[in-house]
Amino acid sequence: MSRDILVIAERRDGSLRQVSLEAIAAARTMAGEDGVVHAFVAGDALEPHVRRLLAAGADRVHTAARPAGEPYTAEKAFRDASGVAARIRPAAIVLGHTAIGREVAPRLAAALDAGQLSDVIAIEREPDGDGLRFTRPIYAGKAFEKRVFRREPWVVTIRPNNFPAPAATASDAADSPAVDSAVVPFEPDDVDLRTVVRGVVRRTAGQTDLAEAKIVVSGGRGVKSADGFKPLEELAAALGGAVGASRGACDAGYCDYALQIGQTGKVVTPELYIACGISGAIQHLAGMSQSRVIVAINKDPEAPIFKIADYGIVGDLFEVVPLLSEEVRRLAP
Ligand code: FAD
Repeated sequence: MSRDILVIAERRDGSLRQVSLEAIAAARTMAGEDGVVHAFVAGDALEPHVRRLLAAGADRVHTAARPAGEPYTAEKAFRDASGVAARIRPAAIVLGHTAIGREVAPRLAAALDAGQLSDVIAIEREPDGDGLRFTRPIYAGKAFEKRVFRREPWVVTIRPNNFPAPAATASDAADSPAVDSAVVPFEPDDVDLRTVVRGVVRRTAGQTDLAEAKIVVSGGRGVKSADGFKPLEELAAALGGAVGASRGACDAGYCDYALQIGQTGKVVTPELYIACGISGAIQHLAGMSQSRVIVAINKDPEAPIFKIADYGIVGDLFEVVPLLSEEVRRLAP
């Protein structure tokens, strides 16, 4: 059976988020052979994003033109997403499991009387039929459950870095289907919005988004001070990755809570996670244990982090991390 699937694409600082392209890949699996994958994107200067969404596998892109820098509100995002959904009546809606996706998905599910699954990491066809099975981690990543929906529609959020999306290429434009025929402008109903955002204060800027980073260099209480994060920042820069932290480091005031990874912080699944001076408490593991390769640097050989690490370095992070950065820079092309 084929289905219409709607992806609500997200932008951040003007760029399309990688997880939105991954959502298109997930939606293609859900749509079946003849199903139609729709995407919705709002904002200014939309054409390159439309091309990118089409190149990633969307069949149609619904667009809402907005002034540059218009701040996000959940109310507005819900109004738009539900408006597009009312137009298409999709079998499923897919969002990234991001701060925005987490806010908007339950509202959509409630409004559409739909089932909802959050933080999905894999989708597979049922061996004996047309149904789909969704896998998601539970108990802070200690177990996985597989679920099926018994009726449509569904609303699903997908965890970043789990559904491979085609990489952006210079030929996206040439490879995309005719853009004009695939774009459907959308004008939301003029409902009274109850909240207005006057301004947004960003506490972390200029670093790769943690949730989507392919490489994360994370520091714990072992970094000992805000300055202690400098070698980690250098290593992250050399590797083209992002800096994260344990709650221990955040609580100690060494870094901003925006960097916290774990049960009460961000969940990351990078290709490489380097834990520096982090003991490996269960609440921290909840946010990073699904990383593809884990490297732990800790001076205590008994630290629990070594139990889940693929590679462990027993040593002082202030000696090891600069050596790693030096080696990465030496090997860089
Ligand atoms: P520590 O446990 O103090 O470990 C520091 C490590 O650094 C030690 O292993 C030590 O050997 C090593 N070290 C010290 N100096 C060096 C050096 N020079 N070189 C190398 N290694 C060195 N924690 C999170 O991270 N994320 C969460 O989301 C989170 N949520 C929580 C929610 C709840 C409800 C609770 C109760 C706790 C939560 N915690 C969370 C806290 C968690 O239990 C731990 O307290 C915290 O993760 C410890 O941080 P840490 O590993 O940096 O510090």
